[in-house]
Amino acid sequence: MIFMSYFDQKEPPRREARLNACIACGGTLDKMANRKMSCCLPDGERAFSQNSICLLLPALGMMNSIPNSVVLMHGAIGCGSSSHGGNAGVRAGNNHRWGVVKDATWISTALSEHDVIGGGEEKLAAAIREIDERYQPVIIFVVASCVPGIIGDDIDGLAQQLQPEIKAHILPVHCEGFKTKIWATAYDAVYHAIGRVFLKEAADSGKQAEKPIVNLMNVSSMGRVDEVELERLLKALGFDVNIFPVFAQPDKMTAVTQAQLSVSTCPTHDDYLLQYLEEKYGIPYVLRHMPIGIENTGLWIRDIASHFGLQEQAEQLIAAEEQELKAALAEFKPFFAGKKAFVSAGEFRALSTAILLAELGFEVVAVRSFHHDEFADSEYEKLVKVTEKEIPLNIANCQPFEEANLLRRIKPDIFLGHMNGNATAAKSGVATHVIYNVGLQYVGYKGAYELARRLYRQLQNPQFNHKLGRWTKLPYSDSWYEQDPFKYIQQPEVGAGE
Ligand code: SF4
Repeated sequence: MIFMSYFDQKEPPRREARLNACIACGGTLDKMANRKMSCCLPDGERAFSQNSICLLLPALGMMNSIPNSVVLMHGAIGCGSSSHGGNAGVRAGNNHRWGVVKDATWISTALSEHDVIGGGEEKLAAAIREIDERYQPVIIFVVASCVPGIIGDDIDGLAQQLQPEIKAHILPVHCEGFKTKIWATAYDAVYHAIGRVFLKEAADSGKQAEKPIVNLMNVSSMGRVDEVELERLLKALGFDVNIFPVFAQPDKMTAVTQAQLSVSTCPTHDDYLLQYLEEKYGIPYVLRHMPIGIENTGLWIRDIASHFGLQEQAEQLIAAEEQELKAALAEFKPFFAGKKAFVSAGEFRALSTAILLAELGFEVVAVRSFHHDEFADSEYEKLVKVTEKEIPLNIANCQPFEEANLLRRIKPDIFLGHMNGNATAAKSGVATHVIYNVGLQYVGYKGAYELARRLYRQLQNPQFNHKLGRWTKLPYSDSWYEQDPFKYIQQPEVGAGE
């Protein structure tokens, strides 16, 4: 039998096909344990959808961060528009790492109606040549959006044809938005291009590295402050750390093939590349827990340490960290006891943050995840154990109308949502806290303390949101709030596809 890797293909598969991932479900948390949720069956969909997320948004978040690169959007001019909003994160990320405020460099071929009929390859070739000459980058990401996917522009063929005359590495990235509703396919698209075109077997220097090297996979929703915390924990166990891929210099990217282990911080984010690094370069990986929350950070450290036979050192480190954290949290926990928290984010982040909130003493009353796939099954099981009762779970790629309905019923004390995702809760009069701000800490033991400190301060006085709720109005009729929040989700009966 001939083994075919996904990386032998020009494009990665859609996550709907590869992982049976889904975006539409409404039910209770306990049903998700053991993957019994009906959204995992075929045809789970919405009869009405308010909005969606194009995979370009997270893909651009990764690519725009790479130093010495240019992102060339091949498509309609509006396709790269999220780069404007995302640029604040690029400037902050560059500043936090290297002390320079530097913008992302992204360019569009701005395809016109004429190009749609005549083809856009000539325009694309001219843009690649001009970028190479004018910016002299190490990498040019050539990003296909919907239009080239529909009209059949061959970005891979063109990249291959031009590469001998272009100094930069040309990496074709497939982000045709119409192909998938699972925005997390974006990570696979970027990793596919990096793995297929850019990574190479490391040359044997003949020297033995002094310390074991681990690849620490970061995500664009994690700031430098969080990386510092994870580096601190890994260095305490005696490792050298290579952080990849967000804000990774191109030479740090190529160094991933020299590591002894790859470590994921978010299984939703990393599985596609980590499996490839093992398959092609023999680098094993750990991909189970997200280091957010007290227990989860300990589990994450134990997984890494056990790979190198360092269990005893890991237990000592965890015990010392937990002891210090427990003492630091003592002043906050009585205040948090019984306060209701609603969490909404990318699946793994939402669940691990909900578990942390339960550890801090909050009552977790609802969770929204932007999609669902198998990697989070274990997190649902952990959360079910700490919530101890049925709580609403919504799998939704945005859909604020469902969220508004849930908020009216649940009336939480605090809503933790993604950047730009807190407006519905804020206007409903609920205190909100951002779950993703690259200047704030969320990860590891320090992140647990910092989140607790911020929530304590905020919940001392939630008047701002109470007043906002009194004087603003969401655009839904009263009759909507009387209906089932999951009314428009069409789900086959559980058991129908088993
Ligand atoms: S869905 Fe298509 S047209 Fe819309 S932003 Fe995404 S790639 Fe561009």
